[in-house]
Amino acid sequence: MTKTDYDLVIIGAGPAGLTAGIYAARARMNVLLLEKAVPGGQILVTDWIENYPGFPEGISGYDLSEKMKIQAEELGLKIETAEVHSLNLSKELKEIILKDRSITTKSLIIASGASPRNIGIGEDKFMGKGVSFCATCDAPFFRDKTVVAIGGGDTAVQEAIFLTKFAKKVYLIHRRDELRATKILQERAFKNKKLEIIWDSVATGLEGFFGVEGVKVKNVKTNEEKTLKADGCFIWIGILPNTSFLNDAVKTDEFGFISVDTTMQASVPGVYAAGDVRDTPLRQISTAVGDAAIAAVSAEHFIENL
Ligand code: NAP
Repeated sequence: MTKTDYDLVIIGAGPAGLTAGIYAARARMNVLLLEKAVPGGQILVTDWIENYPGFPEGISGYDLSEKMKIQAEELGLKIETAEVHSLNLSKELKEIILKDRSITTKSLIIASGASPRNIGIGEDKFMGKGVSFCATCDAPFFRDKTVVAIGGGDTAVQEAIFLTKFAKKVYLIHRRDELRATKILQERAFKNKKLEIIWDSVATGLEGFFGVEGVKVKNVKTNEEKTLKADGCFIWIGILPNTSFLNDAVKTDEFGFISVDTTMQASVPGVYAAGDVRDTPLRQISTAVGDAAIAAVSAEHFIENL
């Protein structure tokens, strides 16, 4: 296997990875960013972003990621399309195993993101056309409209309540007759006049031509089926960290998100995590960018002190 030495390798070219790349390139570190697909991450499928500072008119997810990528590359960041297979972090020089070779690096930033769990009701076809996984990002587009939210955990209930600040009506579809969400969120949901919970039910399909016009729902106890007329459908049945290559190389929380300290360092010295892949209370572009700046500067200090 060919061996290449880097000061820093970054895994993932979403906002966190690209930001870490910008900082590392400006610090003149010998840095490589690995991305398995197209740079941009989850924001590539975000239709319109209104809550990222500096763009008062808003900006499409595609345009924002392109700007970040151009900025990083103009500063000298090398981006390579390659999927990380596994990591060997047991030695001082960290080893990243790719399909055809392995790379060694003094420090590593894992910014591989997370993916919302899909239900499989054709949500791909309607992504950005009524289907969303992010109320903070998309709720304002549903002002005075009717939306469906799916799930019964903390995320679904909290976000469904948030949606009621914009939408005139929110249906929350849950597959059981009891919510998983914490009691205080349940109390708020039950009190909210704009929120109607559709119990014991699962979404079985989406209807619409150019965008979502309705959500097909089936009651799992009676098998009765109906269509809820709605302009949007938010899906919150859990998110999964993109860490298939990790194999317990660093500590994670109980859900698999990487645990870090305030310098974004994971349980192995010189290994950092930034953005959605880390254990964090908020998964936004702005928080990912902040994490990444801290992680890159921490990696720089780590190398200086080796
Ligand atoms: P979660 O707790 O795993 O809940 C997922 C929900 O989706 C559950 O209600 C589950 O139903 C439902 N679900 C799963 N698969 C489904 C399917 N195929 N079809 C229909 N429904 C399905 O996920 P989460 O709400 O994203 O929360 C993740 C973690 O973050 C949790 O520990 C949560 O407490 C935490 N969190 C905390 C806060 C807060 O403290 N404010 C906010 C957000 C998240 P069942 O209940 O029937 O299994």
